[in-house]
This record gives sequence, structure tokens and C-alpha cells, in this order.
Amino acid sequence: MRKKMIQFSIITIFPNMFNPIFKYGIIRQAIKKKIINIKILNLRDFSINKRKTVDDKIYGGGPGMLIMFLPLFKAVINAKKNYKEKSIVIYLSPQGKVLKHNHIKYFIKKKHLIFICGRYKGIDERFIQTQVDEEWSIGDFVLTGGELPAMIFIDAITRSIPGVLNNKHSLIEESFNNDLLDCPNYTRPKNIANHIVPSILLSGNHKKIKEWRLKHSLKNTLLKRPDLLKNKKNKK
Ligand code: SAM
Repeated sequence: MRKKMIQFSIITIFPNMFNPIFKYGIIRQAIKKKIINIKILNLRDFSINKRKTVDDKIYGGGPGMLIMFLPLFKAVINAKKNYKEKSIVIYLSPQGKVLKHNHIKYFIKKKHLIFICGRYKGIDERFIQTQVDEEWSIGDFVLTGGELPAMIFIDAITRSIPGVLNNKHSLIEESFNNDLLDCPNYTRPKNIANHIVPSILLSGNHKKIKEWRLKHSLKNTLLKRPDLLKNKKNKK
């Protein structure tokens, strides 16, 4: 069980978007158990003008606005202020390294992750060059903002922290562990319009059930994500 909690700080112009993640499921429980803590910083509180704007027109022209350097800079200083632990400033960006399952173990070792949520055309390049430690993406598509990616990172990281899920086997018997997809799973009733639960799963024979699950994990992976099996082979 880890002794220190992971601190997530999020810098955003839409702080209220994060309200739901505090309220539900595993994340709520992890906060309650003090395994993680989430601090939301409203970027507008660090605006450098009375109108509380944080964006401006782009040099060279063209459509869209850009988030300015200074509000972001002030917000990051504030985010770091109360934590002695090493902080990592992460800019969520479609240009970043794409998050994969095997990256999560890197993040769960960290103490303080500061997520910068961009909006509009993004953020001033000089902030990325001088203040950002790492640039991460959630996939090769463009979203309107970094808030959903921040939630995705927090969710994926939190559920992998030892002690967060009640049953540690939940993490092992899951897609992407060992470069395999999960096997098919069933719950009651046994029969739905003649689609019947495989009898081995009702047999109580744990060895046989384990073998069945592995076989069907392999089958699922071969059918849906053969690229994962290639990864597995290359790692050998
Ligand atoms: N002009 C930027 C580009 O083409 O690289 C895209 C800006 S996007 C409209 C606005 C913000 O959404 C970005 O600053 C980033 O924070 C976030 N965002 C968009 N797609 C993302 C992705 N795939 N992963 C992580 N963040 C993303």
C-alpha cells in the first residue's frame, strides 16, 4: 500500500466541468480514503486584466484565440506552492505522446501531477517550451479542450493505484494486461433467448475456468486487436 497520496492539480477555464468526478465511484472513494487529492485551479483567477480574460489573438493572424503565457505561468506557480514533492507539469495536447495502458505504471509513481487544459487554438508555444515537462495526448483526434483528457488521465491512473480497487485481481484480469484483451464475461440469467452461459463457467472447476478464460482472452485479442499479440511476440 502506498504511503503518500497522489496530488492532481488541474488548471482550466472550466472548473465546474470537474464537479462530477468528485461525486462518483472509484475516484470519490479514492479521495475519501486520501489515496488521491484533486485541486482545481480556475485559470481566470490568474488573469492579468480586470475582465478576467486569459486568451488573445494569434500573431500572424488566422482564426481562433490562444491562451496566454502569463496566466498559465502564475497558475503553475500557485499549484506548486503548497507541495514540497516534485511536480510534473503536463500539457494535455493532441501533439503529445499517446497514452497507453503500459504508461500508467509510470504515473502512479509520481507525487504531484499538474494538468494544463488547453482551449481554443491551444496555448502559447513559449509556455510549452519553458514550463511544460511532458506533453500527453489521449488519441489521434482533436477535442475542444483538455478537461476530458485530464479526467481520463485521473481515472486511469487512480484505478491502478494499489489499494484503490477492492480486489487486486480486477487489475490483472483486465484488457491490456500482458498484451491481451479480457475474456467474455457473463452474469445472471444463465439463458437469454437461447444464448446460454458456457457451462464451464458454472462448473466450479477453477483450473478449467482459468484455462477457458485464457483461451478466450487470446481469441478475443486475435479477433479484435491482433496488433497486441504482435507486441507480445516482439517482447519475447
Ligand atoms: N491547435 C491545436 C492543434 O492542432 O494541435 C489543437 C487545440 S484543441 C482545439 C484545444 C485543446 O484541447 C488543446 O490545447 C488541448 O489541451 C486539448 N486537446 C485536444 N485534443 C486533445 C487530445 N487528443 N489529447 C489531449 N488534449 C487534447
